[in-house]
Amino acid sequence: MKRKNLFNLIKKLWPICRSITGRGLKQSLDILKSNLPKSYQKNFKIFEVKSGTKIYDWVVPDEWIIKDAYIKFKGKKIIDFKKNNLHLVNYSYPVNKKKISLNKIKNYLYTEKKTPNAIPYVTSYYNKKVGMCISYKNYKKLKKGNYDIMIETAFKKGNTYIGEYFKKGKSKKEIFFSTYLCHPSLANDNLSGPVVALKLAEWITKEFSKNTKYSYRFVFGPETLGAIYYINKNIKKLKKNVKYAFNLTCLGGSKQFSFLPSRTGLTITDKLTKNILTHEYKNFLNFSFLDRGSDERQYCNPNVNLPMVSVMQKKYHEYPQYHNSLDNLSFINNNQLENSLELYKKLIIAIENNFTFKNTLFCEPPLKKYFPELSKNKLQKKSKIIMDMLIFADGKNSLLDIADKINISILSLIPLVKKLKDKKFIKIL
Ligand code: ZN
Repeated sequence: MKRKNLFNLIKKLWPICRSITGRGLKQSLDILKSNLPKSYQKNFKIFEVKSGTKIYDWVVPDEWIIKDAYIKFKGKKIIDFKKNNLHLVNYSYPVNKKKISLNKIKNYLYTEKKTPNAIPYVTSYYNKKVGMCISYKNYKKLKKGNYDIMIETAFKKGNTYIGEYFKKGKSKKEIFFSTYLCHPSLANDNLSGPVVALKLAEWITKEFSKNTKYSYRFVFGPETLGAIYYINKNIKKLKKNVKYAFNLTCLGGSKQFSFLPSRTGLTITDKLTKNILTHEYKNFLNFSFLDRGSDERQYCNPNVNLPMVSVMQKKYHEYPQYHNSLDNLSFINNNQLENSLELYKKLIIAIENNFTFKNTLFCEPPLKKYFPELSKNKLQKKSKIIMDMLIFADGKNSLLDIADKINISILSLIPLVKKLKDKKFIKIL
């Protein structure tokens, strides 16, 4: 039986009430770190950023602390934070009122008519809200009478936290992955991203041992705030070193992938990702950068300008369970998460093998002489591809350029590069 590694890690993180600061976030980062093999844990660093820290125009808010939150009707709890942490507005201020009318209690309630069976996910990081969330179905059932509302929350100077996993490669040039984990119990958006990111980081470290061409960096933080902080701290290094960049979010919930390009749609990450999606997956959904909604909003700013794309499954904003209690553990499964992980592994294999090489010959080689092991049929199939590779191997085209010219998956050309190199038909630059 296949172990449900990815899903099990999500299950572990599931009950924690996360936010953009505080204990839930720290605890989640600690769980991610401790899930790595012992010898890799030193690669995962957790940074504290104090409340009040100024980052460009933003300020890290105070930590939000929750003791309890509920609403009672006739002495019985009808909404209980302990049953589902989405019941409490994330960053809600405290309140303690007894015996208030139905009309008055409604002032504290957030509900969403469009998804009547779901508790909506509501946040109020930067504007003062006090309240709890309830499904529209239950909201409609509320009767006249006396209600008690108790929200025991507090704010104090504390920290937000950023996790960073780094694997050094031969080059300082790096592949950058951003992911976030500030949402409370929400599966596709949000836990799928950091869990796939962690497993990908582990795989790169294991699979390539010391030998990656590029360095790999994974940043785990609260959405928006974490990205802004990271950019503020590292802008020079990012601009200098990042060669390819990905935002890891919404990696479950579907059989089909969704592609969100970078701002220009023309970066090397766009080109590589489109090659793999087109030839390895076929029917993926193509979105426009106008449909953006995650940390690419910061990383693709023209003054930061990372070549960042996202490949997702069920994209944020595009499914009825988005940002409500139905984006839960039954909305995603381990196979979907594995498929996402597999796709990103393919992208990395392609990146590591995207060589530029030069033809060493002065004419087409007699292939039969060089590949006696291949049957006539196989040779026929391969010879056109080999000739195409050789004719475009001018020392300027990368393997990706050539794959796009031939209209084929870059992955299918990787074994041929090795063969052509062994036969001394090409020199890798
Ligand atoms: Zn979200």
